Amino acid sequence: MRIDLHTHSRVSDGTDSPTDLVHAAARAGLQVVALTDHDTTAGWTEAAAAAQVAGISLVPGIEVSTRFRGTGVHLLVYLPDADDSALGAELDAIVTARQERVPRMLARLRDLGIPATEQALAEVSGHNLVTGRPHVADLLVRLGVVASRAEAFSAYLADGGPAYVDRYAADLTRMLEVVRGARGVAVLAHPWGRGSAEVLDETALAGLADAGLVGLEVDHLDHTPAQRTRLREIAGRLGLLVTGSSDHHGAGKVGHDLGCETTAPGELARILQRAADLGSPTRVAGKEL
Ligand code: AMP
Ligand code: FE
Ligand code: FE
Ligand code: ZN
Repeated sequence: MRIDLHTHSRVSDGTDSPTDLVHAAARAGLQVVALTDHDTTAGWTEAAAAAQVAGISLVPGIEVSTRFRGTGVHLLVYLPDADDSALGAELDAIVTARQERVPRMLARLRDLGIPATEQALAEVSGHNLVTGRPHVADLLVRLGVVASRAEAFSAYLADGGPAYVDRYAADLTRMLEVVRGARGVAVLAHPWGRGSAEVLDETALAGLADAGLVGLEVDHLDHTPAQRTRLREIAGRLGLLVTGSSDHHGAGKVGHDLGCETTAPGELARILQRAADLGSPTRVAGKEL
């Protein structure tokens, strides 16, 4: 069984609709795919219907923007109750902060002489509500300022870059509490990718495990083979499950093809068992597992 537990649709910063993403997953030979758009459950219903048609299993998830000791950390949350009010309030706060940040980033770019308007951004993002830096990157590509999202990040949008603007993210420890309340299963996304390796050392991970963290996404393109070996050892010592996933963003992130990294069936079984133990009302959609 081939299982990919981390993908994005254009409901956040991927480029495929949830329907197209699920069908692409089936074509890529996956039997199980999780939709984990940033900070929203808005794509779940469409993806679930597509999974039914495509004959594969869809695990509903979210990749929540959090902060830990001043550093941005992404938390994958599987099978939470989408109607939980505390979780909904946190996601609303993040999405609102995303919307407030956009005009400030565009103003920075205009200060740099780049004609970046809200109107042009809305055209590029399809009036996406969960706007992110990748949409601003797409605008820079459209304006001919850079050739790719990656170049837009390195030249303008990366943390500390000339057009970078900070935004609210939920505190990670508090979010673990909220996720447990929403009966979801919390797995750290790419813990040692992009600058979070330093704050997420073994001692910190042990504390997070005590606070309700259930797993680590170890097999991710941002991790070197040596990092994967060490993360696996830490997961074993802390009793955390281990996942692997593509972090697919459609055409938005080169190399992250669906199924390029996968999760072992036994680890998915642990996620499903945990959700069942917590009494989650959210079910895997499409083909029954
Ligand atoms: P935001 O959530 O708006 O702060 O933007 C962060 C998102 O940008 C991440 O989830 C990635 O999808 C994307 N991203 C971050 N760094 C890069 C990069 N160097 N190249 C392409 N996409 C990136
Ligand atoms: Fe993303
Ligand atoms: Fe991420
Ligand atoms: Zn992601």
